[in-house]
Amino acid sequence: MSRVVVAGAGVVGLTCAARLLADGHRVDVLARDLPRETTSAVAAALWFPYRALPYDRVLGWSRTSYDAFAELAVQTPEAGVTMMSGVELPLEPEERPWWADAVPDLAETFLVPPGYPMGWAFTAPVVEMPIYLDWLAGVVLERGGTITRMNLSGLPTGADVVVNCTGVASRFLASDPSVHPVQGQVVLVEQVGLDRWWLEGAGPTYVVPRAHDIVVGGTDVEGEWSRTPSPEVASSILRRALRLVPELAGADVLAHRVGLRPARPEVRLERVGDVVHCYGHGGAGVTLSWGCADEVAALVSD
Ligand SMILES: Cc1cc2nc3c(=O)[nH]c(=O)nc-3n(C[C@H](O)[C@H](O)[C@H](O)COP(=O)(O)OP(=O)(O)OC[C@H]3O[C@@H](n4cnc5c(N)ncnc54)[C@H](O)[C@@H]3O)c2cc1C
Repeated sequence: MSRVVVAGAGVVGLTCAARLLADGHRVDVLARDLPRETTSAVAAALWFPYRALPYDRVLGWSRTSYDAFAELAVQTPEAGVTMMSGVELPLEPEERPWWADAVPDLAETFLVPPGYPMGWAFTAPVVEMPIYLDWLAGVVLERGGTITRMNLSGLPTGADVVVNCTGVASRFLASDPSVHPVQGQVVLVEQVGLDRWWLEGAGPTYVVPRAHDIVVGGTDVEGEWSRTPSPEVASSILRRALRLVPELAGADVLAHRVGLRPARPEVRLERVGDVVHCYGHGGAGVTLSWGCADEVAALVSD
């Protein structure tokens, strides 16, 4: 059993903390932003391995997380996870997506909006992030961990192991210039009775229904650090989404959100001395969270 400090309270930090506490470690989470203030809280958050590499590790982490979310959807309704059917729309016909092995019911469909050659229909976890992050923080506290607001100027010292889950801030905290923001904006609109998600990779455009609202996205702006939503961008997001889901016409806009995806040529998950780095999950931090947490737990125990 070790004393572990986790830096970061987004989905990656909290999942690692919950997992490490289950192994019997003593865990303290330190974070500048508390869970609901993070990029993780902005995520749509549909299970889909978007903008994260390398393929082989991402496939394994995605598969583990899919199973963990599927179990939560059935056994822990208060976690805010729902298994939902939907369709991914590639722009070119493809034989089989590289992530196909991670989902149990993938099927080709031609029931797609005009202009798309085909679609992949499958059931995916949809994670209602504000609810889920509250639940996950509750798990950390119930298991004896702590979560403290602290603006770190470097990775903490003094613990047996530090787990660095600071997302895009690892550019400074881990002196890693290869991690950079990919800004994403979404519009939250009222629920109009949708019970299927839609995702088109180019754009990117997606519509993800939740219990009381619908997340409509999105954008993908390399290197942009601003967290301020733009009204023009919101209009363009809604225009694109209407082509996918005409039922959205006239839906009331409830809110606008912006988050900074921590993009990196590859996810960094490795141990260097007493530090385990786990950041750079791009557009798939939720999708990879439980798989990565398992690997972090193994590295902490080494
Ligand atoms: C619009 C949008 C839609 C998305 N949709 C999806 C989706 O559908 N599915 C999916 O899987 N992913 C999605 N993502 C990606 C996902 O949100 C990210 O991959 C994920 O949130 C990264 O989590 P994280 O915990 O690494 O980082 P973050 O959530 O950014 O958390 C980082 C933590 O580090 C802390 N920190 C930073 N600097 C310091 C410091 N100096 N001192 C102390 N603490 C610090 C922060 O305060 C925070 O607590 C989306 C992202 C966006 C923006």
